Amino acid sequence: MSTSPVLVIGAGPAGLAVAASLGRRGVPAVVLERSDAVGASWRQHYERLHLHTTRRWSGLPGFPIPRRFGRWVARADVVNYLEMYAVHHRLDVRTGVHVKRVARADGGWVVEAESGEVFTGSTVVVATGYNHTPVPPAWPGVETFAGELVHASAYRNAKPYRGKDVLVVGAGNTGSEIAVDLTEGGASRVRLAIRTPPHIVRRSNLGWPAQGTGIVVRHLPVRVVDRIAAGVARVEVPDLSPYGLPRPTTGLYSRVMEGSVPLQDVGLIAAVQAGRVEPVAAVESFDDGAVVLADGSTITPEVVVAATGYRRGLEALVGDLGVLDERGLPRTHGPRTFHSAPGLYFTGYTNPISGMFRELRIDADRIARAISRG
Ligand SMILES: Cc1cc2nc3c(=O)[nH]c(=O)nc-3n(C[C@H](O)[C@H](O)[C@H](O)COP(=O)(O)OP(=O)(O)OC[C@H]3O[C@@H](n4cnc5c(N)ncnc54)[C@H](O)[C@@H]3O)c2cc1C
Repeated sequence: MSTSPVLVIGAGPAGLAVAASLGRRGVPAVVLERSDAVGASWRQHYERLHLHTTRRWSGLPGFPIPRRFGRWVARADVVNYLEMYAVHHRLDVRTGVHVKRVARADGGWVVEAESGEVFTGSTVVVATGYNHTPVPPAWPGVETFAGELVHASAYRNAKPYRGKDVLVVGAGNTGSEIAVDLTEGGASRVRLAIRTPPHIVRRSNLGWPAQGTGIVVRHLPVRVVDRIAAGVARVEVPDLSPYGLPRPTTGLYSRVMEGSVPLQDVGLIAAVQAGRVEPVAAVESFDDGAVVLADGSTITPEVVVAATGYRRGLEALVGDLGVLDERGLPRTHGPRTFHSAPGLYFTGYTNPISGMFRELRIDADRIARAISRG
C-alpha cells in the first residue's frame, strides 16, 4: 500500500496540469496512469490531427508550449509537449497503474488498481478523460455487414483504405477530418453519413482564431451567441445544401450546451464542394450486409468508419459514490466537491467552446488552490 496526500488518476493534459499546479504550491502528488507513458490519448489519435486551438491558448500551467511547435500544434508535438511538461515539473507519474475503483477510507480515499495495488490519499483528482470509452455503433443488423467496420478511435491514417469505398458515420470534428484524410489518402469513394447538420466554423479568419471568439462569447447568453454565430456563418461558410449538407436549424451555442462543439473546417467545405466527400443521410440499420440510410436508400460501402463518439466511463470507477448524474457526468467539477465526497475532485469532463486545454489549465490552478487551502 502506498500513501500520498494527493492521488491524480490519469496522465493526460488534465492530470498533469493538476499535479504540476499542486507541485508549484508545494503539495506533492502522485499521478497514476494505466498506459506506459503520459499523453496516452494523444499517442493514439489519427496521425494528421493538429490542435484546433492555438498554441498560445493551449499551454498548461507553468510551462507554455514551445514556439517552434507552430500555431496549430501537430499531434506528435502535443505528445512531445506532454512528455516535456512532466519532466519540467518533475512529476511523479506511475505508469502501468490501471485504477479500477475509488472508495472511501477513514478520513480520505482508497484507490484500487487492476493489479491489486492499493493507494491511499487524503485527496483524489479524477482526470481519466472526456473521450474515455469508444461508443460502438448499435445499428440493427450490423452483424450482417461483411465489410470492415472500424471505430474512429482505431483509425490512424488512410493507407489501409486506399482504393476502397468508405462510409464515415458522424460529422463531428473527428468524422469530418477522417473523411477528408481518406479522400487525400486515395480512398476510391468517401461518403459522410450525417444525422444532424453540424455548425461549421473557420479555424481562423483574417488571422483571428475561432477559439478567440469562443473565449470572448463564452459568458454571453446562449440566444445572443446563437444569433451572432448564425450571422458569422452566413458570411464565412458557403451554403452547402446543394451538396446535401444544409445549414443547421438549431443555434451553435445551444448545441454546445448539449455537448456538441462546432466543426472546425480543415478541408471539409472544399472536399464537399469538389464532390470528394459526399454527404448522405444518417445510418438507420444494416440489411443483408447493405447500409440502410434514414432517407430509405441503401448503399454498400466496403468499409464503415464509425465516428460515434465516446462515453466518460466513470461508472466503474466512482459509480457507487453518488457523485455522478444520470448522464454519467460528475455532479461537481473543478475546485468544487460533492457534499458527500469531500476531497474527490474531477477535471476534464466538460466540452467548452473556449478550448479544453485552456479550461484544463484554469481548472488545474483552481483545484490546486482549493486543495492547498483545504
Ligand atoms: C480528436 C480530438 C481532438 C482534440 N483537439 C483539441 C484541441 O485542439 N484543443 C483542445 O483544447 N482540446 C482538444 N481536444 C479535447 C481535449 O483537450 C483532449 O481530449 C485532452 O486530451 C483531454 O485531456 P484529459 O487529460 O482530460 O484526457 P486524456 O487526454 O484522455 O487523458 C486521460 C488519461 O487518463 C488515463 N486513464 C484513463 N482511465 C484510467 C484509469 N482507470 N486508470 C489510470 N489511468 C487512466 C488515460 O490512459 C489517459 O492517459 C480534442 C479531443 C479529441 C478526442
